Amino acid sequence: MLNADCRHDPRWLCRDGSTVSGPKDQLPPHSLLPGKMLWRSLLVATISSHPWLLTPALRTLSLIAHPRLSFLDVNKNAILRGILKTTFYNHFCAGEKAAEVTGTIDRIKHMGFRGVILTYAREIVVDASSQKVNNPTTNNEKANAQTTKSPEVEAWRQGVLETVEMVGTDDFLALKLTGADPQVMHALSSNQPLPEQMIFALQDVCTRAIERNTRIFVDAEQQSVQSGIDAVALDLMRRYNRNGTAVVYNTYQAYLKSTPENLLSHLGIADKEGFTLGVKLVRGAYINSEPRHLINDTKQGTDDSYNAIAAGILRRQYGFFGVERQFPSAELFLATHNKESALAADSLYKERLATGQPTTKVQYGQLLGMADEVSCRLLQLRDDSSQAAQKASPEVYKCLSWGTLGDCVSYLLRRAVENRDAVGRTKQEYYALKTEARRRIKNMFSLRW
Ligand SMILES: Cc1cc2nc3c(=O)[nH]c(=O)nc-3n(C[C@H](O)[C@H](O)[C@H](O)COP(=O)(O)OP(=O)(O)OC[C@H]3O[C@@H](n4cnc5c(N)ncnc54)[C@H](O)[C@@H]3O)c2cc1C
Repeated sequence: MLNADCRHDPRWLCRDGSTVSGPKDQLPPHSLLPGKMLWRSLLVATISSHPWLLTPALRTLSLIAHPRLSFLDVNKNAILRGILKTTFYNHFCAGEKAAEVTGTIDRIKHMGFRGVILTYAREIVVDASSQKVNNPTTNNEKANAQTTKSPEVEAWRQGVLETVEMVGTDDFLALKLTGADPQVMHALSSNQPLPEQMIFALQDVCTRAIERNTRIFVDAEQQSVQSGIDAVALDLMRRYNRNGTAVVYNTYQAYLKSTPENLLSHLGIADKEGFTLGVKLVRGAYINSEPRHLINDTKQGTDDSYNAIAAGILRRQYGFFGVERQFPSAELFLATHNKESALAADSLYKERLATGQPTTKVQYGQLLGMADEVSCRLLQLRDDSSQAAQKASPEVYKCLSWGTLGDCVSYLLRRAVENRDAVGRTKQEYYALKTEARRRIKNMFSLRW
């Protein structure tokens, strides 16, 4: 754990044995990690960056996610449970119960993060591409589905409401709509209204989130459900983003060719109807399951689109908005592990504020257990020396999933695959963590002698 006062001392000594001298922005970003987190990150990065370790680890996780033998079931095998919990689970997830989750949130905020994005890991896994859900096919079945209460939607509502109670002022709650129930999935993919029960569940969640000063992210998912999700998010923004600030944010995926046009259309709706557009910008996570023609031809194309949208919203000039038409009220959240995108946005934001130009507020987020170099680098750029400097400083969030170990295994598998796909960054993270571990060991010995 970082010593509470150590960051204010020019030569700070942290409880984990790390001594740090000089201005904090000249230190390696990982110097901000508490000791326990550093060693766990090093273990995970070692596995993720060595294919001969990662391949069997992925296979084992995949077997544990769908256990056919009882010794692979985390609910039946205490040893397996203990190993997984103290390593991968604690690295990527917030906790199994409220007390554990709030403890993790406190530790994250104590490190200097502005807040957290919390999501409930339990979800119904439905195959969106093949639509293998028990969709109602006849009119009778459809009518029944509308009138019968779904226990899954009720479980989702209760789980999400429990999640709201764990977060606080300015934190975010992330909602994965398809996690609720196959009927919801069906409504989203066929652009039909959500089942009434789900509409009420969303209202309950938004009302409670507003009471607790918490904001809401509507997560983006596969293309087959995305226009349905956009419609729900717009409805929520119409209703709740009324006082010049965003309570609800929709997620925009820069890898889709259609996103710039879609965003322009949403800016137009926000302008016409007078609500604030909450924009959470991601590159997009479903690249391997989407039809290839919908996605930018190259990674560079996605990067350019991401950076152009981020810069456009920050400058309040995107398409004809801010040029021919006024730019509507908007707020921006950059959910990215890409250092170049985050640092470019931060420089632009500071430059615009310093020169008094119109600027949209921006915040940043990375997943817990991933891209700590980016998160910590942004934290190091904080400057509390004056009110103006404080206002221009990046506000950084960590995105956490909570739920029982059994509920989170699929989530852990997704993170492990994402680490495998981001080979370059995983290697870089591994080398940086190794250097930081060596630095701390050296410091410990030099202090002792
Ligand atoms: C806080 C947070 C919330 C998130 N929420 C969502 C969400 O709601 N929905 C969602 O879909 N994702 C979400 N993501 C995941 C995100 O979309 C990315 O998959 C992930 O963050 C990696 O992208 P990056 O910006 O970090 O940068 P990088 O790692 O630099 O970029 C990787 C991304 O580039 C794109 N890409 C890679 N290769 C190609 C190629 N050949 N052609 C075109 N594009 C390519 C893909 O989108 C890939 O994910 C979230 C991520 C974070 C950190």
